[in-house]
Amino acid sequence: MRIDLSGLHSGKRECNLFFAILVFIVILAVWGNGARQKRLAETAHEKSLFAMDTYFSLRAYGPNAEAGLTLCEDRVRELEKLLSVTAEGSDVWRIDQEQAASVAEDTFRLIGEALRIGEQTDGALDITLYPVLRAWGFTTGDYRIPEKQELAELLTAVDYRAVALEGGSHSVTVPEGVQIDLGAVAKGYTGDVLIDILRQQGVTSAILDLGGNVQTLGTKPDGTPWRVAVRNPFDRSQVAGVLEVNDMCVITSGGYERYFTGEDGQIYWHILDPVNGMPARNGLVSVTVVGEQGVRCDALSTALFVMGKDRAVAFWKQQGDFDMILITEDGELILTEGLRDCFESGADWAEQVVYID
Ligand code: AMP
Ligand code: MG
Repeated sequence: MRIDLSGLHSGKRECNLFFAILVFIVILAVWGNGARQKRLAETAHEKSLFAMDTYFSLRAYGPNAEAGLTLCEDRVRELEKLLSVTAEGSDVWRIDQEQAASVAEDTFRLIGEALRIGEQTDGALDITLYPVLRAWGFTTGDYRIPEKQELAELLTAVDYRAVALEGGSHSVTVPEGVQIDLGAVAKGYTGDVLIDILRQQGVTSAILDLGGNVQTLGTKPDGTPWRVAVRNPFDRSQVAGVLEVNDMCVITSGGYERYFTGEDGQIYWHILDPVNGMPARNGLVSVTVVGEQGVRCDALSTALFVMGKDRAVAFWKQQGDFDMILITEDGELILTEGLRDCFESGADWAEQVVYID
């Protein structure tokens, strides 16, 4: 009996040819991707600006990065004009002076979001704290320690629930004496707007540092994750650790960011507890929130700082849409489980790291 093997041989030849083409395509794809990443890395563009009372450092890659960053700068100036609490004629200034104002869409959306998070955090974030912040001198740098009585009087006008929004006309109304300040949320919102602009321009790789608020777009041009340092609040020149992230915001609120030392030798910082109008001292010295939306991360970093460790952990368990790093007064570094594979602690911190789930 003879078996005809010719079909088998030609099948084998086709198979080899198919395999060779496949290998060739894979090599081309890898080579093409490498070349694309190299081209991207070579087209880095940077822009540094002083805005919103801090330094912005914006870096984007690719052919549209330069044009995108120019648009970003224009947009920052526009938002600054709307959201500044001190610039005469800004939306916030008009609300505070006139108790009722029709405002731009940006201002309206941002206030709406801040009020929603005020509600969720049971008032830990309260945008009506402005008169109390002013009494401490945090808005001007003329620091002083207000008397308990003065704080008690000012606190009678602090209540985010008193801010009324009317969607049709974009109008914001507050009772007499109530004044708002968007300092806890404006940079996060701005970061979201800038990331959107860059995305629309076709940019796929960017990192924005808005005075310590870091927001990233895509990966680094070589395809690896962005590395974002988390400062050591006890020594700002050092890091507590490094996070590796893509397409994420890493936003920190720290007592060390703005503070003064009183005549009594005590440190007083700029994040206030709306319950008593005093700098929030609930066991935390720094809170970093990691999530997809800058405005939410910014609002939450301030609110969780005020809430303290136990309430912050309970809130995280209830919400579940973000990760966080809490640094306690005792030097404990508490991280949520989602960060386990993307956080590397600084040399002196390894012993203090605790993960929660
Ligand atoms: P951040 O650096 O994002 O935590 O924002 C801090 C800024 O928010 C302060 O400088 C104040 O202008 C303002 N602020 C302080 N405490 C609060 C609070 N409990 N709720 C809302 N805004 C606050
Ligand atoms: Mg904030």
